[in-house]
Amino acid sequence: MSKIEENAISRAIVEAYQEKLARSLASDVIVVGAGPAGLTAAATLARAGRRVTVIEKRLAVGGGIWGGGMGMNEVVVQEEALEVLQAAGVRARAREMGLYVADALELACALCLDALRAGATILNLVTLEDVCVHSGRVTGVVVNQTGLSGTLPIDPIALVAADVIDASGHEAVAVEKLASRGLLQPAAPRGRIGDGPMDAATAERFVVERTGPIYPGLWVAGMSVCAAYGGPRMGPIFGGMLLSGRRVAELILAGARQTNEVRS
Ligand SMILES: Cc1cc2nc3c(=O)[nH]c(=O)nc-3n(C[C@H](O)[C@H](O)[C@H](O)COP(=O)(O)OP(=O)(O)OC[C@H]3O[C@@H](n4cnc5c(N)ncnc54)[C@H](O)[C@@H]3O)c2cc1C
Repeated sequence: MSKIEENAISRAIVEAYQEKLARSLASDVIVVGAGPAGLTAAATLARAGRRVTVIEKRLAVGGGIWGGGMGMNEVVVQEEALEVLQAAGVRARAREMGLYVADALELACALCLDALRAGATILNLVTLEDVCVHSGRVTGVVVNQTGLSGTLPIDPIALVAADVIDASGHEAVAVEKLASRGLLQPAAPRGRIGDGPMDAATAERFVVERTGPIYPGLWVAGMSVCAAYGGPRMGPIFGGMLLSGRRVAELILAGARQTNEVRS
């Protein structure tokens, strides 16, 4: 075993992380949230050559994947989403009614690895606190270390990007930040962010169809779509999340720019 100095171990971590953080200061696309939608979007965009940074407030990426349904670690996807699973190398077994199951842990790990190997940078333990807005356009995110965010009076830093995707799940944190300033009027019932009661079939269609731009420079994907537009929740079926993540990436790559009726 070669001689090891503690100082060299520390220096390796500090220098490597500094390089990663410096790379993330300016990206083509920032993805907020490393759930199934965010990771799928990140992999698709990075594979197409975009500089992608994913910020995730938790220690572990994967969002709601890990627990499957009620802690039973199997996820269900419908046939239409099979190719997204296959692209990430995830094995799936057929069940009734065109449904497939996959191991939740395999899915979370595979989506993470796929995004990283495609070239995306993932910063875990980094929380979105706010967004940057210049001349009516979102130009980046304001972030802090998760352990510091909301606990100590320590200023966050800003990361800039041409496009930001809110894939933060039920919380729709970036959309919420704009809505709280009156910059964006949520189309959700009662004018507040939040999804509706469960209706799996409607919700799975809704989340894919309404994926897209919501404000100049800001896009919604995954459960954030249901939260922003008041769509129903779908429970532990993940096809819509995967297809939404791929769709937002394809829209960005196609250069789509039009915002829809949520824009105030
Ligand atoms: C921990 C957890 C448990 C869940 N359990 C259930 C369940 O039991 N039943 C059910 O029907 N649905 C559950 N959901 C939601 C369900 O999993 C979703 O339908 C699906 O996972 C949504 O996928 P998504 O990619 O849109 O977002 P999610 O899988 O929710 O991922 C969003 C990611 O964004 C991150 N994030 C949120 N806020 C910030 C921020 N400020 N800064 C940075 N990152 C942020 C979250 O930590 C999360 O990893 C759960 C979600 C989570 C996160």
